[in-house]
Amino acid sequence: MSAYDVDAVIVGSGPNGLVAAVTLAEAGWRVVVYEAAETPGGGLRSGEVTLPGFIHDCCASNHPMAMASPAFRALGLEREGLAFAQNDVPLGHAIRPGVSGFVRRSAAETAAGFGADEKLWRAVMGTFGSRWRQLGRAIGNPLRPTPDLIALGATSVWPTPWLLGLLRDERSRAVLSGLAAHAIVDLRQPATALVGVALGAFAHGVGWPVAVGGTKSIADALIARLTSLGGEIVTGTRISRIEELPRARAVLLDTSPRDALKIAGHRFSPSYANSLHRMRYGAAAYKVDWAIEGEVPWLDEGMREAGFVHLGGSAEQVIAAERDVAKGRMPEEPFLLLSQASRLDPSRAPRGKSAFGGYAHVPFGFDGDITEAIEARIEKFAPGFRERILARHVTDPRAMEALNPNQIGGSIDGGVPDLFQLIARPRLSLNPAATSDPGIFLCSASTVPGPGVTGMPGRLAAQLALKRLG
Ligand SMILES: Cc1cc2nc3c(=O)[nH]c(=O)nc-3n(C[C@H](O)[C@H](O)[C@H](O)COP(=O)(O)OP(=O)(O)OC[C@H]3O[C@@H](n4cnc5c(N)ncnc54)[C@H](O)[C@@H]3O)c2cc1C
Repeated sequence: MSAYDVDAVIVGSGPNGLVAAVTLAEAGWRVVVYEAAETPGGGLRSGEVTLPGFIHDCCASNHPMAMASPAFRALGLEREGLAFAQNDVPLGHAIRPGVSGFVRRSAAETAAGFGADEKLWRAVMGTFGSRWRQLGRAIGNPLRPTPDLIALGATSVWPTPWLLGLLRDERSRAVLSGLAAHAIVDLRQPATALVGVALGAFAHGVGWPVAVGGTKSIADALIARLTSLGGEIVTGTRISRIEELPRARAVLLDTSPRDALKIAGHRFSPSYANSLHRMRYGAAAYKVDWAIEGEVPWLDEGMREAGFVHLGGSAEQVIAAERDVAKGRMPEEPFLLLSQASRLDPSRAPRGKSAFGGYAHVPFGFDGDITEAIEARIEKFAPGFRERILARHVTDPRAMEALNPNQIGGSIDGGVPDLFQLIARPRLSLNPAATSDPGIFLCSASTVPGPGVTGMPGRLAAQLALKRLG
Protein backbone atom coordinates (compact mmCIF):
# COMPACT_ATOMS: atom_id res chain seq x y z
CA MET A 1 0.00 0.00 0.00
CA SER A 2 1.28 3.49 -0.83
CA ALA A 3 2.35 5.79 1.99
CA TYR A 4 0.73 8.61 0.06
CA ASP A 5 -2.90 9.58 -0.59
CA VAL A 6 -1.94 11.25 -3.88
CA ASP A 7 1.32 11.85 -5.73
CA ALA A 8 1.20 15.66 -5.71
CA VAL A 9 -0.77 18.40 -4.06
CA ILE A 10 -0.74 21.86 -5.62
CA VAL A 11 -1.77 24.81 -3.47
CA GLY A 12 -3.20 27.53 -5.71
CA SER A 13 -4.80 27.28 -9.15
CA GLY A 14 -3.25 30.23 -10.99
CA PRO A 15 -1.71 29.57 -14.41
CA ASN A 16 1.43 28.25 -12.75
CA GLY A 17 -0.40 25.94 -10.35
CA LEU A 18 -2.56 24.57 -13.18
CA VAL A 19 0.36 24.12 -15.61
CA ALA A 20 2.27 22.29 -12.84
CA ALA A 21 -0.76 20.10 -12.14
CA VAL A 22 -1.26 19.21 -15.82
CA THR A 23 2.47 18.53 -16.32
CA LEU A 24 2.46 16.09 -13.39
CA ALA A 25 -0.83 14.49 -14.40
CA GLU A 26 0.47 13.96 -17.95
CA ALA A 27 3.41 12.10 -16.39
CA GLY A 28 0.91 9.78 -14.72
CA TRP A 29 0.85 11.34 -11.26
CA ARG A 30 -2.34 11.53 -9.21
CA VAL A 31 -2.82 15.23 -8.56
CA VAL A 32 -5.13 17.38 -6.45
CA VAL A 33 -5.21 21.19 -6.49
CA TYR A 34 -6.46 23.30 -3.55
CA GLU A 35 -7.67 26.82 -4.30
CA ALA A 36 -8.61 29.50 -1.76
CA ALA A 37 -11.17 31.25 -3.99
CA GLU A 38 -14.55 29.83 -4.98
CA THR A 39 -13.52 30.15 -8.65
CA PRO A 40 -10.27 28.59 -9.89
CA GLY A 41 -7.74 30.30 -12.14
CA GLY A 42 -6.05 33.01 -10.02
CA GLY A 43 -4.89 35.65 -12.53
CA LEU A 44 -6.80 33.82 -15.28
CA ARG A 45 -10.26 34.66 -13.99
CA SER A 46 -12.87 36.65 -15.93
CA GLY A 47 -16.39 37.63 -14.96
CA GLU A 48 -19.45 39.77 -15.68
CA VAL A 49 -18.36 42.30 -13.08
CA THR A 50 -20.11 45.35 -14.57
CA LEU A 51 -23.32 44.20 -16.27
CA PRO A 52 -24.66 40.87 -17.55
CA GLY A 53 -23.26 40.07 -20.98
CA PHE A 54 -20.03 42.07 -20.47
CA ILE A 55 -17.09 39.72 -19.81
CA HIS A 56 -14.13 41.41 -18.14
CA ASP A 57 -10.77 39.88 -17.29
CA CYS A 58 -10.18 40.23 -13.56
CA CYS A 59 -6.37 40.30 -13.98
CA ALA A 60 -4.44 39.21 -17.09
CA SER A 61 -6.04 40.22 -20.37
CA ASN A 62 -3.54 40.10 -23.26
CA HIS A 63 -1.34 37.12 -23.88
CA PRO A 64 1.94 37.65 -25.74
CA MET A 65 3.68 35.77 -22.92
CA ALA A 66 1.39 32.75 -23.11
CA MET A 67 1.66 32.64 -26.91
CA ALA A 68 5.46 32.61 -26.80
CA SER A 69 5.77 30.38 -23.75
CA PRO A 70 7.18 26.88 -24.24
CA ALA A 71 4.93 25.71 -21.39
CA PHE A 72 1.69 26.63 -23.15
CA ARG A 73 2.94 25.65 -26.58
CA ALA A 74 3.84 22.18 -25.26
CA LEU A 75 0.35 21.69 -23.84
CA GLY A 76 -1.48 22.40 -27.11
CA LEU A 77 -4.59 23.69 -25.33
CA GLU A 78 -6.36 24.32 -28.64
CA ARG A 79 -7.30 20.63 -28.33
CA GLU A 80 -9.39 21.73 -25.33
CA GLY A 81 -11.08 24.42 -27.43
CA LEU A 82 -8.84 27.35 -26.39
CA ALA A 83 -8.71 30.05 -29.07
CA PHE A 84 -7.12 33.49 -29.21
CA ALA A 85 -8.22 36.59 -31.10
CA GLN A 86 -6.21 39.56 -32.31
CA ASN A 87 -5.87 42.12 -35.10
CA ASP A 88 -2.99 43.92 -36.81
CA VAL A 89 -2.48 46.56 -34.10
CA PRO A 90 -1.45 45.00 -30.79
CA LEU A 91 -0.69 48.34 -29.10
CA GLY A 92 -1.39 52.06 -29.25
CA HIS A 93 0.51 54.43 -26.94
CA ALA A 94 -1.09 57.86 -26.53
CA ILE A 95 1.41 60.70 -26.13
CA ARG A 96 -0.83 63.79 -26.36
CA PRO A 97 -4.46 64.01 -27.40
CA GLY A 98 -4.38 63.14 -31.11
CA VAL A 99 -0.69 62.03 -31.13
CA SER A 100 0.13 58.36 -30.62
CA GLY A 101 2.66 55.68 -31.50
CA PHE A 102 1.54 52.25 -32.67
CA VAL A 103 3.03 48.77 -32.57
CA ARG A 104 1.71 46.73 -35.47
CA ARG A 105 2.12 43.02 -36.12
CA SER A 106 4.52 43.87 -38.93
CA ALA A 107 7.85 45.22 -37.67
CA ALA A 108 8.37 47.03 -41.00
CA GLU A 109 4.99 48.83 -40.80
CA THR A 110 5.63 49.70 -37.16
CA ALA A 111 9.08 51.06 -37.96
CA ALA A 112 7.65 53.14 -40.81
CA GLY A 113 5.68 55.10 -38.18
CA PHE A 114 8.84 55.92 -36.19
CA GLY A 115 10.54 58.47 -38.49
CA ALA A 116 14.28 58.66 -37.81
CA ASP A 117 14.20 55.39 -35.84
CA GLU A 118 12.77 53.31 -38.67
CA LYS A 119 15.97 51.38 -39.43
CA LEU A 120 16.88 50.74 -35.79
CA TRP A 121 13.40 49.49 -34.85
CA ARG A 122 13.25 47.19 -37.84
CA ALA A 123 16.73 45.83 -37.22
CA VAL A 124 16.32 45.19 -33.48
CA MET A 125 12.61 44.47 -32.96
CA GLY A 126 12.19 42.86 -36.36
CA THR A 127 15.06 40.46 -35.69
CA PHE A 128 13.97 39.55 -32.16
CA GLY A 129 10.37 39.30 -33.39
CA SER A 130 11.32 36.81 -36.08
CA ARG A 131 13.06 34.72 -33.38
CA TRP A 132 10.10 34.75 -30.96
CA ARG A 133 10.27 30.96 -30.39
CA GLN A 134 13.91 31.11 -29.30
CA LEU A 135 13.23 34.28 -27.30
CA GLY A 136 10.26 32.62 -25.53
CA ARG A 137 12.47 29.65 -24.63
CA ALA A 138 15.28 31.93 -23.45
CA ILE A 139 13.05 34.09 -21.25
CA GLY A 140 11.14 31.05 -20.00
CA ASN A 141 14.25 29.53 -18.47
CA PRO A 142 16.79 32.36 -18.08
CA LEU A 143 19.10 30.38 -15.83
CA ARG A 144 20.04 28.22 -18.82
CA PRO A 145 21.52 30.92 -21.08
CA THR A 146 21.07 30.58 -24.84
CA PRO A 147 22.51 32.74 -27.65
CA ASP A 148 19.14 34.54 -27.85
CA LEU A 149 19.18 35.35 -24.13
CA ILE A 150 22.73 36.67 -24.44
CA ALA A 151 21.70 38.79 -27.45
CA LEU A 152 18.64 40.11 -25.58
CA GLY A 153 20.77 40.83 -22.52
CA ALA A 154 23.45 42.62 -24.54
CA THR A 155 20.80 44.78 -26.22
CA SER A 156 18.67 45.63 -23.25
CA VAL A 157 20.18 44.88 -19.86
CA TRP A 158 20.65 48.65 -19.51
CA PRO A 159 18.38 51.06 -17.66
CA THR A 160 15.58 52.09 -20.04
CA PRO A 161 16.75 55.75 -20.36
CA TRP A 162 20.10 54.51 -21.73
CA LEU A 163 18.39 52.57 -24.49
CA LEU A 164 16.08 55.50 -25.17
CA GLY A 165 19.25 57.54 -25.76
CA LEU A 166 19.61 55.66 -29.06
CA LEU A 167 16.15 56.71 -30.26
CA ARG A 168 15.21 60.12 -31.68
CA ASP A 169 11.52 59.89 -32.56
CA GLU A 170 9.10 60.79 -29.75
CA ARG A 171 6.75 57.97 -30.79
CA SER A 172 9.32 55.15 -30.68
CA ARG A 173 10.69 56.53 -27.39
CA ALA A 174 7.25 56.70 -25.79
CA VAL A 175 6.27 53.25 -27.07
CA LEU A 176 9.48 51.59 -25.81
CA SER A 177 9.22 53.23 -22.37
CA GLY A 178 5.57 52.13 -22.14
CA LEU A 179 6.50 48.56 -23.04
CA ALA A 180 9.28 48.56 -20.44
CA ALA A 181 6.88 49.95 -17.82
CA HIS A 182 5.00 46.63 -17.85
CA ALA A 183 7.74 45.45 -15.48
CA ILE A 184 6.40 47.96 -12.88
CA VAL A 185 9.95 48.72 -11.80
CA ASP A 186 11.65 52.12 -11.62
CA LEU A 187 12.79 52.35 -15.25
CA ARG A 188 16.09 53.94 -14.27
CA GLN A 189 17.16 50.52 -12.97
CA PRO A 190 19.15 48.05 -15.09
CA ALA A 191 17.38 45.36 -17.12
CA THR A 192 14.09 47.25 -17.29
CA ALA A 193 14.55 47.69 -21.05
CA LEU A 194 14.62 43.90 -21.33
CA VAL A 195 10.88 43.67 -20.68
CA GLY A 196 10.23 46.42 -23.22
CA VAL A 197 12.27 44.79 -25.97
CA ALA A 198 10.75 41.35 -25.28
CA LEU A 199 7.16 42.61 -25.30
CA GLY A 200 7.79 44.63 -28.47
CA ALA A 201 9.38 41.64 -30.18
CA PHE A 202 6.49 39.38 -29.14
CA ALA A 203 4.02 41.91 -30.61
CA HIS A 204 5.70 41.32 -33.98
CA GLY A 205 6.25 37.60 -33.47
CA VAL A 206 2.99 36.38 -31.96
CA GLY A 207 0.86 39.47 -31.29
CA TRP A 208 -0.86 40.45 -28.05
CA PRO A 209 -4.06 38.43 -28.39
CA VAL A 210 -6.92 37.96 -25.95
CA ALA A 211 -8.46 34.58 -25.18
CA VAL A 212 -11.84 34.11 -26.86
CA GLY A 213 -14.55 34.17 -24.19
CA GLY A 214 -12.24 35.79 -21.60
CA THR A 215 -8.91 34.88 -20.05
CA LYS A 216 -10.87 32.38 -17.98
CA SER A 217 -10.94 30.19 -21.13
CA ILE A 218 -7.24 29.47 -20.50
CA ALA A 219 -8.07 28.23 -17.00
CA ASP A 220 -11.05 26.25 -18.36
CA ALA A 221 -8.81 24.54 -20.92
CA LEU A 222 -6.16 23.68 -18.30
CA ILE A 223 -8.82 22.33 -15.95
CA ALA A 224 -10.45 20.30 -18.73
CA ARG A 225 -7.06 18.71 -19.51
CA LEU A 226 -6.36 18.11 -15.82
CA THR A 227 -9.69 16.46 -15.07
CA SER A 228 -9.45 14.34 -18.23
CA LEU A 229 -6.24 12.96 -16.75
CA GLY A 230 -7.92 12.18 -13.43
CA GLY A 231 -6.75 15.33 -11.60
CA GLU A 232 -9.02 17.08 -9.14
CA ILE A 233 -9.60 20.67 -7.98
CA VAL A 234 -10.97 21.65 -4.56
CA THR A 235 -12.03 25.31 -4.43
CA GLY A 236 -12.98 27.58 -1.52
CA THR A 237 -10.19 26.12 0.65
CA ARG A 238 -7.35 28.37 1.78
CA ILE A 239 -4.48 26.29 3.08
CA SER A 240 -2.70 27.53 6.20
CA ARG A 241 -0.61 24.51 7.23
CA ILE A 242 0.91 21.74 5.17
CA GLU A 243 -0.57 19.24 7.65
CA GLU A 244 -4.07 20.12 6.31
CA LEU A 245 -3.15 18.51 2.98
CA PRO A 246 -3.43 14.85 1.96
CA ARG A 247 -0.15 12.93 2.24
CA ALA A 248 1.77 13.41 -1.01
CA ARG A 249 5.17 12.78 -2.53
CA ALA A 250 5.38 16.40 -3.58
CA VAL A 251 3.70 19.64 -2.55
CA LEU A 252 3.89 22.52 -5.04
CA LEU A 253 3.05 25.99 -3.79
CA ASP A 254 1.52 28.42 -6.31
CA THR A 255 1.46 30.95 -3.49
CA SER A 256 3.18 34.11 -2.36
CA PRO A 257 6.38 33.68 -0.34
CA ARG A 258 4.32 34.88 2.64
CA ASP A 259 1.78 32.02 2.32
CA ALA A 260 4.59 29.57 1.57
CA LEU A 261 6.13 30.49 4.94
CA LYS A 262 2.78 30.19 6.70
CA ILE A 263 2.10 26.80 5.14
CA ALA A 264 5.50 25.18 5.35
CA GLY A 265 7.86 27.59 7.13
CA HIS A 266 8.40 25.03 9.92
CA ARG A 267 9.72 22.57 7.31
CA PHE A 268 12.18 25.04 5.74
CA SER A 269 15.78 25.70 6.76
CA PRO A 270 16.34 29.09 8.40
CA SER A 271 18.28 30.31 5.37
CA TYR A 272 15.56 29.33 2.88
CA ALA A 273 12.85 30.81 5.13
CA ASN A 274 14.94 33.97 5.30
CA SER A 275 15.06 34.27 1.51
CA LEU A 276 11.24 34.12 1.43
CA HIS A 277 11.02 36.72 4.21
CA ARG A 278 13.33 39.05 2.32
CA MET A 279 11.30 39.08 -0.91
CA ARG A 280 10.40 42.68 -1.84
CA TYR A 281 7.04 43.35 -3.49
CA GLY A 282 6.54 45.89 -6.25
CA ALA A 283 3.98 48.55 -7.03
CA ALA A 284 0.28 47.80 -7.14
CA ALA A 285 -2.52 47.85 -9.68
CA TYR A 286 -5.71 49.93 -9.38
CA LYS A 287 -8.11 48.34 -11.83
CA VAL A 288 -11.32 49.70 -13.36
CA ASP A 289 -13.63 47.90 -15.77
CA TRP A 290 -16.35 49.64 -17.72
CA ALA A 291 -19.39 48.59 -19.70
CA ILE A 292 -19.53 51.08 -22.58
CA GLU A 293 -22.26 52.13 -24.99
CA GLY A 294 -20.72 51.82 -28.46
CA GLU A 295 -16.94 52.16 -28.42
CA VAL A 296 -14.44 54.40 -26.64
CA PRO A 297 -14.50 57.63 -28.71
CA TRP A 298 -10.72 58.03 -29.13
CA LEU A 299 -9.66 61.35 -30.67
CA ASP A 300 -6.94 59.51 -32.52
CA GLU A 301 -8.84 57.30 -34.97
CA GLY A 302 -5.91 54.83 -35.02
CA MET A 303 -6.45 54.09 -31.35
CA ARG A 304 -9.84 52.52 -32.09
CA GLU A 305 -8.03 49.62 -33.75
CA ALA A 306 -5.53 48.98 -30.96
CA GLY A 307 -6.06 45.81 -28.92
CA PHE A 308 -4.20 47.35 -25.98
CA VAL A 309 -3.78 51.03 -25.12
CA HIS A 310 -1.19 52.87 -23.03
CA LEU A 311 -2.14 56.31 -21.72
CA GLY A 312 1.37 57.19 -20.73
CA GLY A 313 2.47 60.39 -22.40
CA SER A 314 6.05 60.95 -23.49
CA ALA A 315 8.94 58.65 -22.52
CA GLU A 316 9.93 61.19 -19.86
CA GLN A 317 6.40 61.17 -18.39
CA VAL A 318 6.33 57.36 -18.26
CA ILE A 319 9.73 57.28 -16.53
CA ALA A 320 8.63 59.93 -14.01
CA ALA A 321 5.35 58.12 -13.22
CA GLU A 322 7.09 54.77 -12.69
CA ARG A 323 9.78 56.43 -10.54
CA ASP A 324 7.12 58.00 -8.29
CA VAL A 325 5.20 54.75 -7.93
CA ALA A 326 8.37 52.81 -7.06
CA LYS A 327 9.15 55.44 -4.40
CA GLY A 328 5.68 55.04 -2.89
CA ARG A 329 4.33 58.37 -4.21
CA MET A 330 1.16 58.64 -6.24
CA PRO A 331 2.13 60.25 -9.58
CA GLU A 332 0.12 63.21 -10.79
CA GLU A 333 -0.71 61.24 -13.93
CA PRO A 334 -0.33 57.49 -13.38
CA PHE A 335 0.51 55.19 -16.26
CA LEU A 336 -2.70 53.55 -17.56
CA LEU A 337 -2.79 50.18 -19.31
CA LEU A 338 -6.12 49.45 -21.00
CA SER A 339 -7.43 46.45 -22.88
CA GLN A 340 -9.97 46.85 -25.68
CA ALA A 341 -10.76 43.15 -25.40
CA SER A 342 -14.21 43.24 -26.98
CA ARG A 343 -12.75 44.89 -30.10
CA LEU A 344 -10.68 41.72 -30.61
CA ASP A 345 -13.30 39.31 -29.27
CA PRO A 346 -16.87 40.54 -29.87
CA SER A 347 -18.25 37.71 -27.68
CA ARG A 348 -17.19 39.81 -24.67
CA ALA A 349 -20.03 42.37 -24.97
CA PRO A 350 -23.59 42.68 -26.27
CA ARG A 351 -23.86 43.92 -29.86
CA GLY A 352 -23.10 47.65 -30.22
CA LYS A 353 -21.45 47.86 -26.78
CA SER A 354 -17.93 47.32 -25.42
CA ALA A 355 -16.27 45.65 -22.46
CA PHE A 356 -13.33 47.93 -21.68
CA GLY A 357 -10.95 47.95 -18.74
CA GLY A 358 -7.48 48.22 -17.40
CA TYR A 359 -5.35 49.40 -14.57
CA ALA A 360 -3.13 52.17 -13.30
CA HIS A 361 0.23 51.60 -11.68
CA VAL A 362 -0.03 52.91 -8.11
CA PRO A 363 2.21 52.63 -5.01
CA PHE A 364 2.27 49.37 -3.05
CA GLY A 365 -0.71 49.26 -0.67
CA PHE A 366 -2.20 52.51 -2.07
CA ASP A 367 -5.56 53.12 -0.37
CA GLY A 368 -6.88 56.24 -2.14
CA ASP A 369 -9.64 56.53 -4.75
CA ILE A 370 -8.42 57.49 -8.24
CA THR A 371 -11.37 56.26 -10.31
CA GLU A 372 -12.42 59.83 -11.13
CA ALA A 373 -8.82 60.79 -12.06
CA ILE A 374 -8.52 57.74 -14.34
CA GLU A 375 -11.77 58.57 -16.12
CA ALA A 376 -10.73 62.22 -16.46
CA ARG A 377 -7.46 61.11 -18.08
CA ILE A 378 -9.27 58.86 -20.56
CA GLU A 379 -11.75 61.68 -21.28
CA LYS A 380 -8.81 63.90 -22.37
CA PHE A 381 -7.87 61.37 -25.05
CA ALA A 382 -11.45 60.30 -25.81
CA PRO A 383 -13.87 63.21 -25.29
CA GLY A 384 -17.36 61.88 -24.58
CA PHE A 385 -16.04 58.73 -22.86
CA ARG A 386 -17.83 59.46 -19.58
CA GLU A 387 -21.22 59.81 -21.27
CA ARG A 388 -20.86 56.32 -22.68
CA ILE A 389 -20.25 54.59 -19.33
CA LEU A 390 -23.12 52.21 -18.55
CA ALA A 391 -21.47 50.73 -15.43
CA ARG A 392 -18.08 50.44 -13.79
CA HIS A 393 -16.35 48.05 -11.41
CA VAL A 394 -13.34 49.07 -9.34
CA THR A 395 -10.68 46.72 -7.92
CA ASP A 396 -8.34 48.80 -5.79
CA PRO A 397 -5.13 47.35 -4.27
CA ARG A 398 -6.97 46.17 -1.17
CA ALA A 399 -9.58 44.41 -3.30
CA MET A 400 -6.74 42.95 -5.44
CA GLU A 401 -5.33 41.27 -2.34
CA ALA A 402 -8.80 40.12 -1.22
CA LEU A 403 -9.33 38.60 -4.69
CA ASN A 404 -6.03 36.74 -4.56
CA PRO A 405 -3.72 36.43 -1.53
CA ASN A 406 -0.70 36.33 -3.87
CA GLN A 407 -1.36 40.00 -4.70
CA ILE A 408 0.12 41.39 -1.49
CA GLY A 409 -0.61 45.11 -1.10
CA GLY A 410 -2.22 44.96 -4.57
CA SER A 411 1.17 44.13 -6.08
CA ILE A 412 0.82 41.96 -9.16
CA ASP A 413 4.37 40.71 -9.64
CA GLY A 414 4.93 38.11 -6.91
CA GLY A 415 8.03 40.10 -5.93
CA VAL A 416 9.39 43.14 -7.74
CA PRO A 417 11.17 41.85 -10.88
CA ASP A 418 14.26 44.03 -10.65
CA LEU A 419 17.54 42.55 -11.89
CA PHE A 420 18.41 40.97 -8.54
CA GLN A 421 15.00 39.42 -7.92
CA LEU A 422 14.72 38.23 -11.51
CA ILE A 423 17.68 35.96 -10.91
CA ALA A 424 17.55 35.34 -7.16
CA ARG A 425 13.88 34.42 -7.15
CA PRO A 426 13.42 33.71 -4.28
CA ARG A 427 17.13 32.90 -3.87
CA LEU A 428 20.12 32.28 -6.08
CA SER A 429 19.94 28.66 -7.27
CA LEU A 430 20.13 26.67 -10.47
CA ASN A 431 16.83 25.13 -9.36
CA PRO A 432 14.95 28.11 -7.96
CA ALA A 433 11.70 26.13 -7.58
CA ALA A 434 13.40 23.84 -5.06
CA THR A 435 12.93 24.73 -1.41
CA SER A 436 15.12 23.42 1.40
CA ASP A 437 12.60 20.57 1.87
CA PRO A 438 13.07 17.94 -0.88
CA GLY A 439 9.31 17.33 -1.11
CA ILE A 440 8.17 20.96 -1.34
CA PHE A 441 8.48 23.21 -4.40
CA LEU A 442 7.60 26.83 -5.08
CA CYS A 443 5.80 27.09 -8.43
CA SER A 444 4.30 30.60 -8.47
CA ALA A 445 5.37 33.83 -10.18
CA SER A 446 7.57 34.34 -7.10
CA THR A 447 10.07 31.97 -8.67
CA VAL A 448 11.92 32.06 -12.01
CA PRO A 449 11.07 33.35 -14.60
CA GLY A 450 8.64 35.60 -12.71
CA PRO A 451 5.33 37.29 -13.47
CA GLY A 452 3.10 36.99 -16.53
CA VAL A 453 0.93 34.20 -17.86
CA THR A 454 3.78 31.99 -19.01
CA GLY A 455 3.15 28.86 -16.95
CA MET A 456 6.93 28.48 -16.87
CA PRO A 457 7.39 28.63 -13.06
CA GLY A 458 4.79 25.85 -12.86
CA ARG A 459 6.36 23.78 -15.60
CA LEU A 460 9.92 24.10 -14.23
CA ALA A 461 8.75 23.19 -10.70
CA ALA A 462 6.81 20.16 -11.97
CA GLN A 463 9.73 18.97 -14.08
CA LEU A 464 12.03 19.27 -11.07
CA ALA A 465 9.58 17.31 -8.89
CA LEU A 466 9.39 14.56 -11.52
CA LYS A 467 13.17 14.42 -11.86
CA ARG A 468 13.77 14.27 -8.12
CA LEU A 469 10.82 12.21 -6.94
CA GLY A 470 9.37 10.57 -10.05
C1 LIG B 1 -4.53 43.54 -13.01
C2 LIG B 1 -3.57 42.54 -13.58
C3 LIG B 1 -3.31 42.54 -14.95
C4 LIG B 1 -2.43 41.62 -15.50
N1 LIG B 1 -2.26 41.59 -16.85
C5 LIG B 1 -1.53 40.61 -17.41
C6 LIG B 1 -1.53 40.43 -18.82
O1 LIG B 1 -2.24 41.14 -19.55
N2 LIG B 1 -0.76 39.43 -19.35
C7 LIG B 1 0.00 38.60 -18.54
O2 LIG B 1 0.68 37.71 -19.07
N3 LIG B 1 -0.02 38.73 -17.19
C8 LIG B 1 -0.77 39.69 -16.61
N4 LIG B 1 -0.85 39.80 -15.25
C9 LIG B 1 0.02 38.94 -14.41
C10 LIG B 1 -0.48 37.52 -14.27
O3 LIG B 1 -1.86 37.50 -14.02
C11 LIG B 1 0.26 36.84 -13.12
O4 LIG B 1 1.66 37.00 -13.27
C12 LIG B 1 -0.07 35.35 -13.08
O5 LIG B 1 -1.44 35.15 -12.90
C13 LIG B 1 0.69 34.67 -11.94
O6 LIG B 1 0.31 33.33 -11.94
P1 LIG B 1 0.49 32.41 -10.65
O7 LIG B 1 -0.02 31.08 -11.01
O8 LIG B 1 1.88 32.51 -10.16
O9 LIG B 1 -0.40 33.05 -9.50
P2 LIG B 1 -1.90 33.62 -9.48
O10 LIG B 1 -2.45 33.76 -10.82
O11 LIG B 1 -1.80 34.81 -8.61
O12 LIG B 1 -2.68 32.47 -8.75
C14 LIG B 1 -2.42 32.04 -7.44
C15 LIG B 1 -3.64 31.28 -6.93
O13 LIG B 1 -3.29 30.66 -5.71
C16 LIG B 1 -4.34 30.84 -4.78
N5 LIG B 1 -3.75 30.76 -3.43
C17 LIG B 1 -2.77 31.56 -2.93
N6 LIG B 1 -2.50 31.20 -1.65
C18 LIG B 1 -3.31 30.15 -1.37
C19 LIG B 1 -3.49 29.33 -0.21
N7 LIG B 1 -2.79 29.54 0.92
N8 LIG B 1 -4.41 28.33 -0.25
C20 LIG B 1 -5.13 28.10 -1.39
N9 LIG B 1 -5.00 28.84 -2.51
C21 LIG B 1 -4.09 29.87 -2.50
C22 LIG B 1 -4.90 32.20 -5.12
O14 LIG B 1 -6.24 32.35 -4.65
C23 LIG B 1 -4.81 32.21 -6.64
O15 LIG B 1 -5.97 31.69 -7.22
C24 LIG B 1 -1.75 40.69 -14.66
C25 LIG B 1 -2.02 40.68 -13.29
C26 LIG B 1 -2.94 41.57 -12.76
C27 LIG B 1 -3.29 41.48 -11.30
